[in-house]
Order: sequence, then structure tokens, then C-alpha cells
Amino acid sequence: MKFGGTSVADAEAIGRVIEIIRGHITRYPAHRVPVVVVSAMSKVTDRLVEIGRLIQDGDGNKALSIVAELHARHEAAASALVSGDALRVLLTQITDDFTSLRANVERWMSTSEVTPAATDTLLSTGELVNSRIVAAAFTARGVRSAWVDARRVLVTDREFTAAAPDTERTTERARALVAPVVDAGDVPVLGGFIGATVDGEPTTLGRGGSDYSAAIFGACLDVDEIQIWTDVDGMLTADPRVVAEPYLVPQLSFAEASELAYFGAKVLHPSTILPAVAKNIPVRILNSRRPEVKGTMITADGRPHAGLTALACKRGLTVVDITSTRMLMAHGFLRRLFEVFERFKTPVDVVTTSEVSVSVTVDNPKRLDEIISNLWTFADVNVEREMAIVCVVGENLRSEPRLFARAVTALGDVPLRLVSQAASRRNITFVLRDADVTRAMNLLHGELFTAAVAS
Ligand code: ADP
Ligand code: ASP
Ligand code: MG
Repeated sequence: MKFGGTSVADAEAIGRVIEIIRGHITRYPAHRVPVVVVSAMSKVTDRLVEIGRLIQDGDGNKALSIVAELHARHEAAASALVSGDALRVLLTQITDDFTSLRANVERWMSTSEVTPAATDTLLSTGELVNSRIVAAAFTARGVRSAWVDARRVLVTDREFTAAAPDTERTTERARALVAPVVDAGDVPVLGGFIGATVDGEPTTLGRGGSDYSAAIFGACLDVDEIQIWTDVDGMLTADPRVVAEPYLVPQLSFAEASELAYFGAKVLHPSTILPAVAKNIPVRILNSRRPEVKGTMITADGRPHAGLTALACKRGLTVVDITSTRMLMAHGFLRRLFEVFERFKTPVDVVTTSEVSVSVTVDNPKRLDEIISNLWTFADVNVEREMAIVCVVGENLRSEPRLFARAVTALGDVPLRLVSQAASRRNITFVLRDADVTRAMNLLHGELFTAAVAS
């Protein structure tokens, strides 16, 4: 059971989590206790990112003031949840964690440099401290629990800030360090998002990675179900920040969930589904503020339902058009151009081709300048920024060809830059101007979802 930032935002939210776990244990006395994975308190990771930025900008004092602010916020939550000796022990640990963060910040300030490895040490503070608080709070409120250091369990490669798990080693560690806690009837509490290399250097799985941690631990421990507890009722038919009243999607397939997560449905980290698919473990999304709502169940088959499943959007992208400088696309042109993206470790999301040109969308613009100057050596390049992807997802796109026409028609006069239907025929992807996203999403949602529910 993974609880995201808003579900553990403060003492009150943590209190709700404790009741969810207690309710679960009471309802299923014959089951093993759940393994709990928690994120940092909401906005804490953003503040830690800011510390890194301030150090690089040479504003060390501001960075240290954020360290103090975060220390106070965690102390306040701990003091509201735990008391007596247990609180004294907890406050000492929290102080130790922030003292070591402060020492690191001072060290990084001396060079104004925060390497990717240092970034991961910095960012891991949020999950590290919060998981300690949650574990102590469980015990204080009568739910027997034990804190497990996620950095000792989740073994990753050395790709700092975007590390990948070493499944074999993590399975061994999870069996050695987490399973015995469950067997003893104590609820193990681990921080999500964080891990370490085999040598023990802290790493992170990338922003939003706690969902992925939960799925990795779930797969390593062969659990019955992976639950992602968050601040919405489940997977919705569209991002609620873009479309005012999306509907809950009660069931969907692993493949649909992957597409939605990849194309921007932030409720699930894009990699979450991988470990679940590998072990065929259902994933359920639930609302920690409304635990009685059934949420969304994600399984291999999903469930046949009429119409489409959901929309997603990914914003702030760049479209790169690459035109062969020869008349027609020369043999080897595609290989050469994709080699450039490979060399600069930059994935592309959508690709369309015409007779002489190829267009791709790029999410991470970090190495774009280098990519473009390399492409120029054999092609003409045109770049358009502030673009976005709007993605329509549904297994039924295969069996109901009219859905495609309805989607395109719904967009009316919204200018479309690229359109693609993946080989899976499970999604249609529109690339358009970022400024048109809200209108496009609402037009699609109004036509494809409101209408479907009304009929
Ligand atoms: P947590 O802190 O629990 O991990 P996140 O903020 O990462 O929560 O993810 C939940 C948020 O994802 C929701 O509050 C919502 O704004 C956003 N979201 C985007 N697309 C969707 C979608 N299709 N369904 C549900 N939520 C979505
Ligand atoms: N706390 C991390 C983040 O904000 C991981 C997560 O919330 O899943 O990115
Ligand atoms: Mg999240």
C-alpha cells in the first residue's frame, strides 16, 4: 500500500493513513499485514530540489533556511503523532537526518556544485525522514510497525536521478529485510522513490517514483495486490486540472494504464505497471480521503466496456522536423537520425514520417542543442517549442473504427501538428500547440465521454 505526498502531508493526513491500515488489518485478520510505502510529505521534494538550485546559484543562506524550515515541519508532524520516549528517539533521528543534510549542503556550497549523485542524497531526505515518522506514528497509535530503510532494500544501478532497479538483488534484500517483519505481524514502512547502489550510495527512481517503488517491492514479495493511495478517486477519464469533471475509470488494462501514465496521467508513475505485469499482480488506485470509494482496478485484461478509456496530455514538448537534404529519404537516413537521439540519450515520444521528412517530439530538451547541431550535418532541421501531446486511449479503438473519426471531428478547428495511431491501435496521439491543450482536452472529453455516459 503506497501513500503519496498529499496522503501523508501532515499529522492529520498520516492519521487517516493509520486508520486505513487498521481498518484493513481488522477486516482481513487471516491475511498477512500490508507492506506500506510512503512518499515525502507533499511539496517536500520540490523544496529539496529548490535547495539544490539555490546552492548552484550561490545562495547558500536561503538553502540553509529551507533546511531549517523542513526540519521544523517534520518535527511538528512527529510531535503531533508520537509522544514520550518514542518521540524523543524519533526527534533525535530526525535531527540527525537534518544535521547530515545541513553538513552536506555546506559542503556542496563550497563548490556551488550539486552532482546527480549529490542530488539523490539531497532528495532522499524527504522519504527517509517521513517514513521514520509514519512508522513511529503507526506504533504510537497501536498498529505494530517497523521502519525499514528502503536504501538497504531497493538496489539500483548508478543512473543517479533516474535509477533502475536490480530486480534480483532487490528480491533477495526484500526477502531478507521486509518479509520477516511481515511474518512477525508488524507492518513494514519504507520510503518510496529512494534506493541505493550496491555500494550503498543513495539513488532515486525519478520524480513521482514512489509508485514504482511500491510496484517493485510488491513484485519482489509476490503480493496479492499493489495499492496506490492518492488524492483522487482513481484513474479519471482526464486530468482533473485540465478537464473540470472527469469520470472515474473503474477498470482498465495494464496496457491502457501504461499508455496513460506515459502520456501524462500523473496519478501513476510510467514505470509502475512493469513489475506488476511481470508478476501479473493487479494494481488498484484508491483515494486516502475517501477510502470507501472502490477506485480503479488495473489488471491484464481490464474489462471490455463500450467507448474509450481515458485521455491524457503531456505538455511543454518540442517538435523537431528533420528533412533529408537529398531529394527523397535516402537509404540509411532514419538510422542516422535516430542514432543522434541515441547518442544524446534523449527519448522521442511520437514519430511521424512523410516522403522527405521525419517529425519527432522530445520531452527533455536538455541536450536538444547538441542534437540539432548534429542533425544539421546531414539534414534541414526545424524546431517548434511549447507543443503538447493529447492522447486518446482505449482498447476499443481497435474494434470501433468510428471512435477515431469522432475524436478528430471533436477537435473541430484546433490546429493539429502531428497525428499518429500506434501499432497497438490502443491510442491516438495528437500533437498540437500547448496553448490549445485545455480546449482540445475539453472538446474531446465532452464528445467522447459525456456523450458515452449519457447514451
Ligand atoms: P501522489 O502524491 O499521491 O503520488 P500525484 O500528484 O503524483 O499524487 O498524482 C495524483 C494527481 O494526478 C491527481 O491529483 C491529478 O491531479 C493528477 N492526474 C493527472 N491525470 C490524471 C488522471 N487521468 N486521473 C487521475 N489523476 C490524474
Ligand atoms: N517525493 C517524490 C517526488 O515528489 C516521489 C513521489 O512522490 O512519488 O517526486
Ligand atoms: Mg505521484
